[in-house]
Amino acid sequence: MNAAILEALHQVCGHALPDRPIALHEPDFRGTRAWAYLGDCLDTGWVSTAGQWVSRFEQELCACTGAEHAVAVTNGTVALRLALQLVGVSASDEVLLPSLSFVATANAVAHLGATPHFVDVEAGSLGMDPAALAARLEAVAERRDSGLFNRSTGRRLAAVLPVHVFGHPAPLTELKAVADAWGLPLVEDAAESLGSWRDGTHCGLFGAVGILSFNGNKLITTGGGGALLTHSAELAQRARHLSTTAKLPHPWAFDHDAVGWNDRLPNLNAALGVAQLEDLPRRLLGKRQLAEHYRQAFAGVEGVELLAEPPGCRSNHWLVTLRFLAQDRAEAEAQRLQVLEAAHAEGLLLRPVWRLLHQLPMYSQAPRGHLAVAEDQACRLLNLPSSPQLLEGWGP
Ligand SMILES: *Cc1c(COP(=O)(O)O)cnc(C)c1O
Repeated sequence: MNAAILEALHQVCGHALPDRPIALHEPDFRGTRAWAYLGDCLDTGWVSTAGQWVSRFEQELCACTGAEHAVAVTNGTVALRLALQLVGVSASDEVLLPSLSFVATANAVAHLGATPHFVDVEAGSLGMDPAALAARLEAVAERRDSGLFNRSTGRRLAAVLPVHVFGHPAPLTELKAVADAWGLPLVEDAAESLGSWRDGTHCGLFGAVGILSFNGNKLITTGGGGALLTHSAELAQRARHLSTTAKLPHPWAFDHDAVGWNDRLPNLNAALGVAQLEDLPRRLLGKRQLAEHYRQAFAGVEGVELLAEPPGCRSNHWLVTLRFLAQDRAEAEAQRLQVLEAAHAEGLLLRPVWRLLHQLPMYSQAPRGHLAVAEDQACRLLNLPSSPQLLEGWGP
């Protein structure tokens, strides 16, 4: 089985050179106007947190997602922390989120002094399971005059924070229905999902506010960067205000009306973002073709399957994910380890899915529902090299 998996990997990725391993996802600026746009920043001196590229980046983000407003910030974690603050999350609240996510999802909650409260995922999309969310709220939530509370911890339940994992849209229509029924605001971690849609809505735009990341390994990168997406002019205005030290507009006076942050994306990074966004359709096509190549290469390999685009969705195929199907979870995990070791030995840098968040020391005491699906899936998932550069003929 391992030999068959490595053979399928080679069909798509070829072989790594001794001094040049093949990483999970690598940036690529060839064929873009990145040099020219960066040059404009240097020539004009507009390198910092204001400038035409920041506004252009935000406009382009709106154009390609359908958002009414986009606010560019320094990274996805910061975007998430701001988004949670905008919907009213504050210290000693709880936020419901999946345990199967990157650590930044829980960190953003903790950065506000709030506590993550873990909910299970569905195996298909790996997104938060609406039935698990409903069951958890049914079990612990209590409506009081001052809001919704967790009756066992006494803390306020302040928001629901689903994640679109590896670029596959989570079941947001159903999740929103549950959140609405309990009066909870919805913030989406769409860090991995630029270019992913469900039922005609771009990821991040089902709830009050969603976020994107432009970290170095994401579909497009600004070096480091993130953005908030929202249809609400009021939330966007508050995001801009809070992310620029909450300074009141005035030609010279320093007046601030809140404890603000210094979170805005520099013009330099935004210039890279514009250059990459112009290339987004071609990148999305490349990702789709690469996923299809993997599908063909793995078609005859037994004991594994590739994660599929959920029904009714358009995934950006940020990462191609292999699932080990052995009935016994420990056996699946052992097979995965063997493939990881063999692939790393030859410079193919596959990665398992993240350690579940409730198993990390800082979140091990956090409240949670049953996490049976997350615990099972966490043993079975392996991400494959997914840069569009792996496609033959890709590039300028
Ligand atoms: C990348 C990522 C983030 C954080 O984004 P940064 O820009 O790295 O801070 C948050 N959540 C998920 C699911 C991510 O993949």
